[in-house]
Amino acid sequence: MTPPPDSDPFDRLTLLERALCPDIKQRFWNLVSLCIHGSDCPYCCWEWHGHFARRGYGEFYLFKQGRRSVQVRAHRFAWIIWHRRPIPEALWALHYCDNPPCCNPHHLFLGVNQDNVDDKQRKGRTSRGVKHGNAMRRGKWLHGEQCSRARLTAEKVRDIRYLAQSGTRTKAELARLFGVDWCTIRDVLTRRTWNHVP
Ligand SMILES: [Zn+2]
Ligand SMILES: [Zn+2]
Repeated sequence: MTPPPDSDPFDRLTLLERALCPDIKQRFWNLVSLCIHGSDCPYCCWEWHGHFARRGYGEFYLFKQGRRSVQVRAHRFAWIIWHRRPIPEALWALHYCDNPPCCNPHHLFLGVNQDNVDDKQRKGRTSRGVKHGNAMRRGKWLHGEQCSRARLTAEKVRDIRYLAQSGTRTKAELARLFGVDWCTIRDVLTRRTWNHVP
């Protein structure tokens, strides 16, 4: 049985250990195009410019094990570095921005595989009727302001409320981050919309 495409090369704690190592962290961020706004910028996609795996996802080389080089998905590693904890078993690091090479931790959220499938179906990115490789090309083109077409999901609504409660983001920042209007954020927070989401 082949491992699922988003699985890590070895156990979660070993991976966390690597992610906390300053040298490895430095080598990782050197392969990411950071924006000019600093390390807390929620707006821009930080694209990977290292080695790429299939489907447009970046791949970060960790070390050699025998003759095999051990790699990890770049965006997953970015999530682990940022949050300083392992990604729980069976969870995927998914992109709000629909941009596979993006390693901006603010654009990543954890979800189950099914979310990813639903997400793709909603965006018409499943293989049915779509030319092979299309997802990757599309990923390359989707940036910044194009995110404004994004629609909210229950998952995102929960995240918006969580971030607003934590007091670290203004409504305007949340609007930019989730690619929606300011009033959409206000309605979510006052529960005028999405009231069914706990
Ligand atoms: Zn920025
Ligand atoms: Zn992004």
